[in-house]
Amino acid sequence: MNLNIGVIKGDGIGPEIVAEAMKVLDQVAKIYGHTCDYTQLLMGGASIDVHGVPLTDETVAAAKSCDAVLMGSIGGDAKTSPWYQLEPSKRPEAGLLRIRKELNLFANLRPAILYDELKGACPLKEEITEGGFDMMIMRELTGGLYFGERKTVEEHGVMTAYDSLTYNENEIRRIAKRGFDIAMKRRKKVTSVDKANVLDSSRLWRKVVEEVAAEYPEVTLEHMLVDNCAMQLVKNPKQFDVILTENMFGDILSDEASMVTGSIGMLASASLNETKFGLYEPSGGSAPDIAGKGIANPIATILSAAMMLRFSFDLDKEADAVERAVAKVLAEGYRTIDIMSEGKKQVGTEKMGDLIAGSIR
Ligand code: NAD
Repeated sequence: MNLNIGVIKGDGIGPEIVAEAMKVLDQVAKIYGHTCDYTQLLMGGASIDVHGVPLTDETVAAAKSCDAVLMGSIGGDAKTSPWYQLEPSKRPEAGLLRIRKELNLFANLRPAILYDELKGACPLKEEITEGGFDMMIMRELTGGLYFGERKTVEEHGVMTAYDSLTYNENEIRRIAKRGFDIAMKRRKKVTSVDKANVLDSSRLWRKVVEEVAAEYPEVTLEHMLVDNCAMQLVKNPKQFDVILTENMFGDILSDEASMVTGSIGMLASASLNETKFGLYEPSGGSAPDIAGKGIANPIATILSAAMMLRFSFDLDKEADAVERAVAKVLAEGYRTIDIMSEGKKQVGTEKMGDLIAGSIR
């Protein structure tokens, strides 16, 4: 298969970590008989330096012509970088917001995996984390409270603010379908999270999710109230497979879930639209404090590339091979500085990429 991949190396540690993910993809291609065609795309600070804007129309068109886009992170140090002297719509982050919108990326996926080897970094008690855990938070990204009408007005001499939380059934159905499709590739369980005891939008959410569930008889569906879910994530994270939820609940729960895994350098993510297209990137930022030092952890980007193989190209065997290679290298005791602990072997960005690429079977 020919994989037509757009690559946004980005700023800060972006180019360093993306290079390692490409190394791993190339090794997968070699072993499994595929070819990777990369189109380099400029976004964020790197685009400002060349074009004066964080994203050009040409780059958007080029991204749309790819099957998927792999991205490092964008942005710089807000206190020292000249990019932040520009007006907000010309700063690096504006490029990211625009590309998400242009590509209609409505589904955000964040896996939260606790590898048994890294359980020391997990703030939860050992009896809770024994054996590790592996869940996927699926968050609706383009609707709900963050996109609803808002206003602040004075009413009867009192300042009053309004934010509206709106979802229509089509928005719910498309994310629910995505959630169930993804559960079919995993342990076939969906926990739909809402606040149906209070909110109308949640009651509609629950009704539509149940309709979609009827099309997936192999998948077990459970509903959970968001307050209970926040508790269960720290009490018994092993119970979760796919957590399906709306924008604001997902914003909060995905951060909570990623914190219990320990390190930011391990957290992959994907944003998908209605086709197979996706934008794959580490959850962390461009880490200007360690850029150019060769010490950044490339694993989040490598795991994002594995998600790309799985969700944009349906190459599940290849994605499994990448995830197994990461687990093997961790089990052998190799660590970048952010996940280093006593008695382990510290390596830099490039060496970690070499070890993982060399472990692909
Ligand atoms: P950050 O995630 O870049 O860094 C936070 C801390 O985590 C730093 O100490 C950093 O060294 C560390 N870290 C992050 N990724 C790491 C990795 N792979 N390996 C080892 N350590 C890692 O967050 P920040 O400092 O708040 O933001 C820096 C810049 O990144 C800002 O310009 C911000 O806007 C941007 N940002 C971009 C994205 C994105 O591109 N999607 C996301 C978040 C932040």
